[in-house]
Amino acid sequence: MTRAQPDQVAPERHLGGRAAWLRAAVLGANDGLISTASLMVGVAAADSSRSVILVAGIAGLTAGALSMAAGEYVSVSSQRDTERADLERERGELAADPDAEREELVQIYRARGLSEPLARQVADELSQADAIRVHAREELGFDVDALANPAQAAVVSASSFVVGAIVPILIVALASDTLRVPLTMLVTLAGLVTLGAVGARLGGAPQRRAAIRVLIGGALALAISLAIGRLTGAAI
Ligand SMILES: [Zn+2]
Repeated sequence: MTRAQPDQVAPERHLGGRAAWLRAAVLGANDGLISTASLMVGVAAADSSRSVILVAGIAGLTAGALSMAAGEYVSVSSQRDTERADLERERGELAADPDAEREELVQIYRARGLSEPLARQVADELSQADAIRVHAREELGFDVDALANPAQAAVVSASSFVVGAIVPILIVALASDTLRVPLTMLVTLAGLVTLGAVGARLGGAPQRRAAIRVLIGGALALAISLAIGRLTGAAI
């Protein structure tokens, strides 16, 4: 298996590098924006007063941020446990059979295109410096200094969710009764397109396709919430 370059590995991994951190924040803001806006548009469609819509929005913000924090904490914790177990096993293998481990490293560099003598030289010199660090990076694919951090992941996800969720809450708090729903939908879709493009850029994906996808998804979510809010408002 060829492994990606370190700067390409970063975005798809947990909150190690700056790009991964930013990408998690963009996703959190995206979630906060679309879920809170849909919730508030749905409640507004049932002919609710401003205060009822605001209470729904703030409850949605709180519940969403807490569930993001808990979910992220749990998932990154298990990722960190896996990383630690992998490191432990790798340490054991290095202690038990250093020659086989050295050979493994040589094969990795050979597979990447280095000649046999050069692969051997690289493996030898890097192993002398810090064998476990080299094996962690080349075989396991992570930096021993940047293990997954559950608390940081939880804080980043929850706070970016709050940033996204605050947008529709502010609009409903400030806009007139007739403008609040169309304005919420408009600003939400514009925000989603922007976040989609930024997220795609950070992940190295085509920006326009990501923006269109998120625009269609967001418009659907808002339209369905609006329709269901109107139906329930009429029925109850
Ligand atoms: Zn190894």
